[in-house]
Amino acid sequence: MPIYEYQCGACNHEFEAMQKMSDDKLTDCPECNKPELKKLISASGFRLKGSGWYETDFKKGAPAKASTSNTGSCSSGSCGCG
Ligand SMILES: [Zn+2]
Repeated sequence: MPIYEYQCGACNHEFEAMQKMSDDKLTDCPECNKPELKKLISASGFRLKGSGWYETDFKKGAPAKASTSNTGSCSSGSCGCG
């Protein structure tokens, strides 16, 4: 069952709710009882808290570099990996 994260637009209360996909989204804040809830994102898989996150903030894939492997491919030990 997916977990949804809600934030109240009136009191900023945040909470998570387990709901079926077929359930209507929540609207009433359990803290202040105002119908100000906004659904944030599904918290399944990863979790984002707080502000400052926007859908457009995803980084474009950085160019792949394969030079960061430090799994000891040198045999002399001169690189310090041994
Ligand atoms: Zn509230």
